[in-house]
Amino acid sequence: MSAVADPDAAVRMTSPSRFYSAYLFDLDGTIYLGDELLPGARELLAALRDRGARTVFLSNNPTKDPAMYLEKLRRLGIEVELGDIVNTVVSTIGWLTRYHPGATVFPIAEEPLVRALHEAGIRVSEDPAEIDIVIASYDRSFDYRKLQIAFDAIWQHKRAMLVTTNPDRYCPFPGGRGEPDAAAVVAAIEASTGTRCTVNLGKPDRIMIDTVLAALGIPLDDAIMVGDRLGTDIRMAVNAGMSSALVLTGDSTLADVEACDPAERPTFVLDRIDLLLPERSGSCGND
Ligand SMILES: [Mg+2]
Repeated sequence: MSAVADPDAAVRMTSPSRFYSAYLFDLDGTIYLGDELLPGARELLAALRDRGARTVFLSNNPTKDPAMYLEKLRRLGIEVELGDIVNTVVSTIGWLTRYHPGATVFPIAEEPLVRALHEAGIRVSEDPAEIDIVIASYDRSFDYRKLQIAFDAIWQHKRAMLVTTNPDRYCPFPGGRGEPDAAAVVAAIEASTGTRCTVNLGKPDRIMIDTVLAALGIPLDDAIMVGDRLGTDIRMAVNAGMSSALVLTGDSTLADVEACDPAERPTFVLDRIDLLLPERSGSCGND
């Protein structure tokens, strides 16, 4: 389980001293950076597989199919199965099927999520009088027409609930650019209807972890979440009450860890992802 944080303790680079049955990985900044595999990633994943550990890759991006990540990982020399990749298309379909079977939904979403809804047999409608759930997501074709349908379903007909695939404000690109993400769509609907979005199907909500571990049949204390962002990857692990490792190869720095609330800190901090292997770290700490 997570170590108890001491607010006065300096943040140290620490590695796990044990293996876990499941390793949940963020992708960009953790396994690869843009189109480059990060040092040690391929060796780490091969070693974990040799030990019989399950490895799962998590992404908040609902504009891609899991198959697109599969193709990218294989191109980078990582052998994965389709079921090892869970993004917010997968978590959204899983949540709807489990908790709202029979609901009629209005997806403000791009093709991968819309297609997955149809494939799962979930009823989709643009008629505000019959929409039960408005799904706000990262949709680069979001327009006034879609906002009006959501507004009518929530405000006029007072029947639809608002959920989001992911809470990200923007999606960063290499070179310092970015695009408005799902939070912008949620904000437009919240501002006009006065309602609040209370369900988030991506990081840092624990729904995503619970979905993955339930499918694997592995308990929380035998799994670890590994990522490069304190605010999403690590916060999700903290929310779920599981071990976590922050790798300093992407978004967050050691200074960020020191600045954050001790209760929100990762269990381990690594500067290379292959330090997750106990024999590589030489660590004798415990977790
Ligand atoms: Mg990342």
